[in-house]
Amino acid sequence: MKIEYSERIKQLPPYLFIELDKKKKKLQQSGVDIISLGVGDPDLPTPKHIVESMKKAVEDPKNHQYPFGRGIKAFCEAVSEWYKTRFNVELDPDSEVHSLIGSKEGIGHLPLAFINPQDYVLVPDPGYPVYKNSTILAGGNIYYLPLTQENNFLPDLDIVPKDILRKTKIMFLNYPNNPTAQVATEEFFKKVVSIAKEYNIIVAHDCAYSEIYYDEPPISFLSIPEAKDVGIEFHSLSKTYNMTGWRIGWVCGNKEIINAISTLKDNYDSGVFTAVQHAAVTALKSSQDCVAEMRRIYKQRCDVLLKGLKDLGLEYIPPKATFYVWCKVPHNYTSVSFAEKLLSVGVICTAGVGMGEHGEGYVRFALTVPVERIEEAIERIKKVL
Ligand SMILES: *Cc1c(COP(=O)(O)O)cnc(C)c1O
Repeated sequence: MKIEYSERIKQLPPYLFIELDKKKKKLQQSGVDIISLGVGDPDLPTPKHIVESMKKAVEDPKNHQYPFGRGIKAFCEAVSEWYKTRFNVELDPDSEVHSLIGSKEGIGHLPLAFINPQDYVLVPDPGYPVYKNSTILAGGNIYYLPLTQENNFLPDLDIVPKDILRKTKIMFLNYPNNPTAQVATEEFFKKVVSIAKEYNIIVAHDCAYSEIYYDEPPISFLSIPEAKDVGIEFHSLSKTYNMTGWRIGWVCGNKEIINAISTLKDNYDSGVFTAVQHAAVTALKSSQDCVAEMRRIYKQRCDVLLKGLKDLGLEYIPPKATFYVWCKVPHNYTSVSFAEKLLSVGVICTAGVGMGEHGEGYVRFALTVPVERIEEAIERIKKVL
């Protein structure tokens, strides 16, 4: 039999980080000592109190059945309290919070709930690949928002043609930003709210890195007046509590938008494992000292990498948040040729162009290995430059 894939599957590019992971595993199998600064997956373990809470919850037969719905009451309430404490934003736990099987799941499904064939989605370039790919899967049209150094890696919304804005249904934004490690300003978010209102655009703000910062805590899009009229925010426990494997996150904000996501999810999945939700409640409601400790570790790693890059004569964008460093490639290299050069000495990074056309000229380093390994990576890079 001839198996024919759908056009929407055929249109998808290979998933960048899965390709990177395959490459890494292949090299490792052939005996190469790999330093992986590629995929943004924390190397640190989930804090013990969260693991303990999971162990207890998994023993309880009440947690063994279909979770269904928006999330257990305790989870939605914990999110609402955390938001109030962290951002001073009020969220109704019953209608303005929805659990997700990781924020990727929610971001991946969102366009299916809103996009018809003529509609446009604004997608940051460079950016997390899911914004683009979920638009392709929903049969929508993409309009890229370039993130450039001249604009502090914030999109210039004034240069988006008016006829595109009129056809735009969703605008994806992501601050703290992966891959550029920059943050949004209140002024920028105010402008976003005003454009969203004028053109009826749903703002989908991906806030997965809100807790990984170096100085000032980043702001929430929902803390801007009237933001809840136009938008939602995606959060994840993955990066904040080193829980990437557990698959839990949430979306919060505008209730009508959340209702649509809920309808979609009722037909795709049956919710997040209840025991994982209980562990997430523990994470959100316990002392946040473990998060401060994690920030301290990333800061230490970041200082070591930045110093090393500087000594090598490489130019980088000073990071404000996330665990990435957005680094310019030397002259006579493209982002791919530089990434390949580093791979030749067992150092994996992400070629900027893999995250969008405007990522050309950069590579992304993830601070997901210990200090000694970062030092080793710098030594190896020194040898090939
Ligand atoms: C890691 C990441 C996510 C979230 O991942 P989940 O594990 O699915 O919650 C979302 N957005 C960006 C930009 C990320 O880098």
